[in-house]
Amino acid sequence: MAEVKKITLTTKVLMGMGLGILVGLAFNLLGLNSEGSFVNMYIVNGLFFTIGQMFVTGLKMLVVPLVFFSLVTGVLGIGDVRALGKVGGKSFALYMLTTAIAIALGISIAVTVGIGEGVKMSSEVAFSAKEAPALSAVLLDIIPSNIVNAMALGKMLQIIFFSILVGISILMVGKKAEPVVKLLEISNEIMMKMVNIVMAVAPYAVFALLAKAISDLGLNLLVDLAGYVGVLIFALLFHLFVTLMIVLKVFSGMNPFTFLKKMREVQIFAFSTSSSNATIPVTLRSVIDKLGVKNSVASFTVPFGATINMDGTAIMQGVATVFIANAYGVELGMVGYLTVILMSVLASIGTAGVPGVGLIMLSMVFSQVGLPIEGIGLILGVDRLLDMIRTAVNVSGDAVVSVVVAKSESALDVNVYNDPDAGLSEEEDITIEESAEQALAEVVTQTHNRD
Ligand code: ASP
Repeated sequence: MAEVKKITLTTKVLMGMGLGILVGLAFNLLGLNSEGSFVNMYIVNGLFFTIGQMFVTGLKMLVVPLVFFSLVTGVLGIGDVRALGKVGGKSFALYMLTTAIAIALGISIAVTVGIGEGVKMSSEVAFSAKEAPALSAVLLDIIPSNIVNAMALGKMLQIIFFSILVGISILMVGKKAEPVVKLLEISNEIMMKMVNIVMAVAPYAVFALLAKAISDLGLNLLVDLAGYVGVLIFALLFHLFVTLMIVLKVFSGMNPFTFLKKMREVQIFAFSTSSSNATIPVTLRSVIDKLGVKNSVASFTVPFGATINMDGTAIMQGVATVFIANAYGVELGMVGYLTVILMSVLASIGTAGVPGVGLIMLSMVFSQVGLPIEGIGLILGVDRLLDMIRTAVNVSGDAVVSVVVAKSESALDVNVYNDPDAGLSEEEDITIEESAEQALAEVVTQTHNRD
């Protein structure tokens, strides 16, 4: 029997986040987390670290099978290869467009404020550059030479490519493939239930993740680079609350406030894990169950977005470029900034949404425009905390594009979108009904007896 629960999972997660930040701050400010102390060894790096990592690992465990099953069933759900092409084309164009807007916004705000001028450079922290992959290499990398390997390494674009191909091939086989379709659909449902199981511990895990991150890092290091941090956070919030919401309203007509309210949980996960990839299960579930995007669109746009769309990261690259260029007294000029925009957009295609990847992308951009790579050392210290915020913006961009594409493809359930309670009971559902248990046990017994 489903009892009425007063506190929803989202509220619990919010509480976990608030408490985690408070405890982390307390540990940090009181100096309890000093190297070798009891709190440091057993609480922060023992208890909090283990609980947090178990959860993040649990989420990562779900990503590959979830993307595979949901995307294959998604392709089957569309059932029309041309429609699939349209979803792909539109989401790719929107992802690139929003990323380009994001980085242009970052650059404009940073140039207007003039950040980095008069900053003293300290290049003590070495940072080695990564070469930006050539476009041909990025394209070639979409096709897996070995799908088991691709899945083992979590290569998202390769998994997406293979899953779409499986879906299309099943459609080609037609009616004969019905049992396989059933199996895949049920497997997808099973994976979604698994998301619920992992999510049940989310409030505690979010608490642990944030308590550890904040007690390790503290907030005072943000003060040292207050100019950079302030401008970056302003640009990130502006993009989230203004640019993305305008894109949502103009292209889909849907209410931005409803969107933001329903995305809160996903944003907290992105914030706590600093990884769009690990957040995929939560994003996928929220986009489908709460925002009403059909699986046929969401199963593609969400993992695709987690890989190629990083608005928050792009903003960081824009702001960081201006900051470091000014700090080193390098004049980039219009052509330089345009190159930065182009390079960042390209770099975002080939890099997955995992913690800290933004800095690696930044080093690719720097080596293209000739900015000193060691300049990245200036912002290295504060990046871990800023990564949390920009990842929340990254996943929000993925969800906006999912809604826009779904609306244009008539794959958005407007009633679900507008229903404030949509998806809430689903998210708490980790019960096993007794009757179901018995029925399945009987099936198993019968099969055994037959043998
Ligand atoms: N952590 C970000 C993400 O997963 C990427 C980055 O900016 O480093 O989306």
